[in-house]
Amino acid sequence: MDEKQLYAMRHSLAHLMAQAVQHLWPHAKFGVGPVIENGFYYDIDLGNMTISDTDFAAIEKEMRRMIAKDDTFTRSEMSITDAIKWAKKHKQPYKEELLSDLQHFGTTSMRDINNIEIETITEVNSDVKNVSFYANGDFSDLCRGPHVTSSKKVGAFKLIRVAGAYWRGKEDNPQMQRLYGVAFATKKELDEYLNLLEEAKRRDHRKLGKELGLFTSSPLIGAGLPLFTPRGTVLRDMLNRLAQSYRADNGYQKVWIPTIAKLETYKISGHFEKFPELLRFTSTESGDELALKPVNCPHHTQIYAAQPRSYRDLPIKYMETTTVYRDEKSGELGGLSRVRAITQDDSHVFCTSSQVKDIFAELIESAQNLYELLDMKLSLRLSFRDDAENYLGTKEMWASAEKAIHDLADQFDLEYEIGIGEAAIYGPKMDFMATDAIGRQWQLATVQLDYAIPERFELEYTAEDGTKRRPVMVHCALLGSIERFMSIYIEHTAGWFPFWMAPEQIRILTINDQVGAYVEEITKILNNTVLMQPIKYNELRYTIDDRNESLGKKIREATAWKIPIQLIVGLKDMEAREVSVRRQHSEEKIKLDKLSSYLQEL
Ligand SMILES: [Zn+2]
Ligand SMILES: [Zn+2]
Repeated sequence: MDEKQLYAMRHSLAHLMAQAVQHLWPHAKFGVGPVIENGFYYDIDLGNMTISDTDFAAIEKEMRRMIAKDDTFTRSEMSITDAIKWAKKHKQPYKEELLSDLQHFGTTSMRDINNIEIETITEVNSDVKNVSFYANGDFSDLCRGPHVTSSKKVGAFKLIRVAGAYWRGKEDNPQMQRLYGVAFATKKELDEYLNLLEEAKRRDHRKLGKELGLFTSSPLIGAGLPLFTPRGTVLRDMLNRLAQSYRADNGYQKVWIPTIAKLETYKISGHFEKFPELLRFTSTESGDELALKPVNCPHHTQIYAAQPRSYRDLPIKYMETTTVYRDEKSGELGGLSRVRAITQDDSHVFCTSSQVKDIFAELIESAQNLYELLDMKLSLRLSFRDDAENYLGTKEMWASAEKAIHDLADQFDLEYEIGIGEAAIYGPKMDFMATDAIGRQWQLATVQLDYAIPERFELEYTAEDGTKRRPVMVHCALLGSIERFMSIYIEHTAGWFPFWMAPEQIRILTINDQVGAYVEEITKILNNTVLMQPIKYNELRYTIDDRNESLGKKIREATAWKIPIQLIVGLKDMEAREVSVRRQHSEEKIKLDKLSSYLQEL
């Protein structure tokens, strides 16, 4: 089934859902009902009544009754003036508001919180006189279509969720209820998708983050500012050490920069002009205006520019994992997916254009190795500019940077798709999309080619012939942001982190209290075991559960914490000089003198 048909189907279901709601709650007032990814929703105002998920069955039943009647979807037109009369007569104030906007401004374009257009009830056209309606049975709605021809052709659907939503996304507007449904051409596709939703819910990083004690938040500190516990901080450190290790192997050096900079910095870089809403600033007593950094590139350019550079010095490679601050809208904040304090595993290379290829080769290989190790499949997107004004640098710069990226992808024999409008403001990117354990794709690693920032900050090096030239910049983050990466990785692993990474790698569980001395012998081995793969000098993190509780209870608790290795120790083990190693899917006896090498090999 093609996208257009699927769209018509989902959109028709939104009408059928509104019709069913109207039958059950005749006073219902309707907002907008657009098609979204995998389904549809409708914004509904029931006054002081509410729809809850216990009502879904009744609504679905009424929808099925209407579908069985196989009413045709019939289009008609009305003048705006008549349509406003219609909305008044049917007590639909939200529709009336949309229509009067249309009358005054020639558009009713509705935008969501990310400024993405979600629904337009008519073509955008300032001299529009008529609007279209679609009717199915006794239900009629202002709408530009398209719809299926008759209601039996809507495929398989299910209502899944109801949530609060402010009319037109504005907090001072009335709160409505947004009723969500999902729909697919066949029952089989619907069931597959519902299973995926279930699985995603089970793996939700906000839920697991709480259960595994990884991070928390406080209304006092603020929304979008997660706080990491000791366990969560181990995870952050492990991921960061891994991402940095690949670059350290390629000669990147660590640098350190402060969190704030003079506002002037971002006027030069172009961020102030392009994204004023990302920047929050304050002033000092001496009159400097300071901004929280939304990016790290300008700071790094000034380390480069602190001394004269020659072609012999290049490439110069800096890396730093550091936090940037962006004033995201609070409505979008939750868990780690979208935060206001974003920690990037950032790196910047300053090089000549003939070195770009090697720099990219190293970073592409690093990205491939990193994601292979984390068991996520990678695919590549070349992110190019679109026609928007929102970019820095000249057309010629862009054309040659995009060609360079294109050629690199071909030279490395990579398969890719092209994403128009996905570029960074200063240059095109290679974006790596990782597929998680339940088939979802995420844009994570990114390598970016930039001629614009060196130009803006007037960076230079002395070429072999003695002339001054501009270096090229290559920006890269392998994880992207640590917070967002963690949100995805927690869901990817369902909280079962690999042995080397787990906050608590090993828990020793005693069967009785006569094994104390033997446990001490085991801990000596653990203290002397340091993992060298995949990151170096990774000391073991273990605890001992020698409480006077049943072994069953101790195992249940350790399993709930998803600890990769449980070492079970009883008298028999002590006599045989061995331990029982219990893992997620296996259990085996290991001789004490083999324990260290066993753990090294995991
Ligand atoms: Zn419609
Ligand atoms: Zn950068």
